Amino acid sequence: MRISETKYIDPVCYMSVNPQESDIYVDHKGERYFFCAEACKQKFLADPSKYIKPKSWWDRWLDKHIRANEEEFGPEGPECHTKLMGPPGSKCN
Ligand SMILES: [Zn+2]
Repeated sequence: MRISETKYIDPVCYMSVNPQESDIYVDHKGERYFFCAEACKQKFLADPSKYIKPKSWWDRWLDKHIRANEEEFGPEGPECHTKLMGPPGSKCN
């Protein structure tokens, strides 16, 4: 996923934040969190664990498959969609 297409959600107030327009962010445990305002960032820093939701098994499953697909086909994805997440050896018809 390219950064320009990525929407970040402010974990404190759930507003969507465009990372190209905001330089209010925190790098926490390998993840970057963007905030709509300095006040939200300060709330987050006071108690990060309160605002970070653990990823569900479904999110982890998707992450794993997105990475596997990227390794196999590169960031642009396969030329045909039947290959994507299909069983090994799937053929395009
Ligand atoms: Zn906010």
